[in-house]
Amino acid sequence: MRTLEFYPATPGVQALRPYAPGKPLSELEREYGIRDAVKLASNENPLGPSQRVLDAMQAQFAGLARYPDGNGFELRTALAQACAVSQDWITLGNGSNDVLELVARAFLSPQTSAVFSAHAFAVYPIVTQAIGARAIVAPAHDGSRGPRFGHDLDAIQAAIDADTRVVFIANPNNPTGTWLDRSALHAFLRQVPDQVIVVIDEAYFEYVNEADYPNALEWLADFPNLLVTRTFSKAYGLASLRVGYGISQPGLADMLNRVRQPFNVNSFAQAAAVAALADTEHLQRSVQLNRQGLQQFSDGLRDLSLDFIPSVGNFIAVDVGRAADIVYEKLLREGVIVRPVANYAMPNYLRISVGLETENHRCLQALGKVLAA
Ligand SMILES: *Cc1c(COP(=O)(O)O)cnc(C)c1O
Repeated sequence: MRTLEFYPATPGVQALRPYAPGKPLSELEREYGIRDAVKLASNENPLGPSQRVLDAMQAQFAGLARYPDGNGFELRTALAQACAVSQDWITLGNGSNDVLELVARAFLSPQTSAVFSAHAFAVYPIVTQAIGARAIVAPAHDGSRGPRFGHDLDAIQAAIDADTRVVFIANPNNPTGTWLDRSALHAFLRQVPDQVIVVIDEAYFEYVNEADYPNALEWLADFPNLLVTRTFSKAYGLASLRVGYGISQPGLADMLNRVRQPFNVNSFAQAAAVAALADTEHLQRSVQLNRQGLQQFSDGLRDLSLDFIPSVGNFIAVDVGRAADIVYEKLLREGVIVRPVANYAMPNYLRISVGLETENHRCLQALGKVLAA
């Protein structure tokens, strides 16, 4: 086989470190010969989708040979109604990651920059660097004026440059679980110049119950540069299908749709998402289970005398007080997959997704055992 010693990819791609996903269950079972392992590593909904979703998907088999609806008419109609906007405010994505990439492709170039916080979701630096744009990382809170590791809006504001075209804000953020309140985020938006697109990533929106947690959709009419992203991967339990969406004024949506692949969301995903959106009962069950799970983890972690960052997501970042990579490896041997977050500059932390009560229990037991050894 003839190979190249050097592949002349763009400088941004040359320096790119690919996204490291959570270890799949099948891989752990294959590599370690472990059965009935639990995976609490990718912030998935432990209940999975509801029967209504499965039925809706089943009905799609008849059309397998056809391209999906490239305009996603039914799903966009359902989302427009749920978000109280018209259809042309919705941009569908192959997961909300896809929407983040559309933003980068439509608004960033090697001559521009994107701003995001330290410890922010890993996809922001990836999509920025893939384009060859400059990534400006704003320091996170040190704990004195806001939650440690949380986004510092003043620092983000100060980091915006003349060439900045995109700001990425995760509310709440993954992997920290920290969130920004209504008045702070609204005040921030008012400071941002019009030529800067502000992405408010609300991947965990459905889980959050805090009284002053904002629904950024309320601000769309006032801010033509605002894009809100949401997903069916987390609370709706459809991570495997890859379906997410952006909500913005039509002018911004139009720019994203110019670079969107024509059939980026498949027909199963579209049908499943429509059904999931209608199944409010299942969503409530999922949110309720998560609330109990977060409580179970806070109690259990306190019992283990472990520090954690209070989270409003479906995961919790835990300070294990030592190199978390090693604890992660030991947990694997106990059949528990969590996520080390050294790649987020948090080398002593593990991010644990909230699972079923029994799974959470197993994780806490294993953590206690591994840390005591
Ligand atoms: C999980 C996650 C996403 C969504 O990913 P999908 O592509 O929709 O599966 C987006 N933003 C953050 C902060 C996340 O944690």
